[in-house]
Amino acid sequence: MQKKKEKKKFTRRQAKLKNVNIDQLDSILEDDDLLITEKTETKPAEKLEKSKKDNMILKEGIVLEITTNYKCRVQVKDEILECTISGRLKQMNVESRTLIAVGDNVNVDISEQPRVEEINPRKNALSRFSEKEFQTEMIIAANIDQVAVTTSYREPEINWSLVDRYLCSARIEDIEPIIVVNKIDLLQDQDEYFYQTCEFYNECGFTLVTTSTVTDEGLKVLKQNLENKTTVFSGHSGVGKSSLINKLQTGISLKVAKVSDYTQKGIHTTSRSRLIPWDFGGFLVDTPGIRTFGLSRKHKDKISRVFPGFDKLLHKCRYPNCTHTHELICGVKYAVDKNHYPKNRYNSYIRLLESL
Ligand code: GDP
Ligand code: ZN
Repeated sequence: MQKKKEKKKFTRRQAKLKNVNIDQLDSILEDDDLLITEKTETKPAEKLEKSKKDNMILKEGIVLEITTNYKCRVQVKDEILECTISGRLKQMNVESRTLIAVGDNVNVDISEQPRVEEINPRKNALSRFSEKEFQTEMIIAANIDQVAVTTSYREPEINWSLVDRYLCSARIEDIEPIIVVNKIDLLQDQDEYFYQTCEFYNECGFTLVTTSTVTDEGLKVLKQNLENKTTVFSGHSGVGKSSLINKLQTGISLKVAKVSDYTQKGIHTTSRSRLIPWDFGGFLVDTPGIRTFGLSRKHKDKISRVFPGFDKLLHKCRYPNCTHTHELICGVKYAVDKNHYPKNRYNSYIRLLESL
C-alpha cells in the first residue's frame, strides 16, 4: 500500500500530457490518467549483471511491439526479430507495470533464440494509468521525439486555440512539436487571417506544414520533417490523420481505435500501441485511443512561460512569475497594446488559463 502511495506522488508531480476525449475537452482537463513521464528509470541493471550468461552476442534494437507478456518484436538494423524477454529482467523491481515498452532501446542477445537482455534508460515515456488497478502505470510508448499537432483547415474548421493548447503541452513535455494543417485543398479564397496566423507560428519558431491528401500538397515536406524521428500524431478526430499516414506510406495498416476509446476516458483494455517503421526512416507511434493531448491545472504556471511567442517578451515582465493578466509591468501585455503580439493569440492564452 505504502508503495502505491509513493508511486502516485511521483507520477502526479510529473503528470503532463493527458488523454483527452475530443468531445469533452473540459471534463477531461481534470483527468489524470495519461501523461508523459520524463526519464522513466529502468531499474539498476548491475544487480542482475552477474546472472547473465557469458557468451552473449548483444545487438542494439528498438522495440516495435509487445506481442505477449514474454515476447516482443524488435528491429535490429534492417531486421525484425521475434524476441523473448529475459526472465532476469522480469525479476527486477519494476516501478511501472510495463516492464518493457514500445520504443524502448534494448540489447538483444542473438547467440541463440533472440532474447532481450537489457533495456536502456528512456528519455521519456507516454503513459496512462489503469483505473482498475489503482494508479498502475501503463507505458504506451517510450523515447518519443516529436508530436505532430494535426488539424484541418476546414471540416472541421481549424481551431487555433486547440493548437496553442497542444503546443503548450508539448513544450511542457520537452517534446518537439510540429504543426500540420491538413485539407489545405479547401482553402480557396484569400484567407488573410489564416496566412497571418501561420506566419505568426513560423515567427515563433514552429515548423508549420500545410498538407492535402487530395492534392498531395506538402506531403514531401511533411516526410522530411518525420524522417528519422519517432513521431506521435495528435489531433481532433476527422482532421485526416489516418489519411495522411496512409499517404505517407502506402500499405501501412493502422490499428483502428475501438469506439470505446473515444467514449470512455482512461480505458486500458484496448489494443496495444506499436511502433511502425516509416520506409523513409523513423517511426510512427500508433496508439489507438490516444488522439489528443491536454493540459491540467497544475501546469497553469508553466503556460505563462511556454505559450507561443511569449519567450521573447518575458524579459520585460517585472515579475518572473508574471501571469500577463493583472500585472502592471508586463512585456506580453505591452506587446499586445503596441500590436507587436496578436490580440487573438493573447485571447487564446487567457481562455486557456481560464479553462484550467
Ligand atoms: P482522422 O480521424 O484524423 O484519422 O481522419 P481521417 O483520415 O479518417 O479523415 C477524415 C475525413 O477527412 C475523411 O472523409 C477523409 O476522406 C477526409 N480527408 C482527409 N484528408 C483530407 C484532405 O486533405 N482534404 C480533404 N478535402 N479531405 C480530407
Ligand atoms: Zn507578463
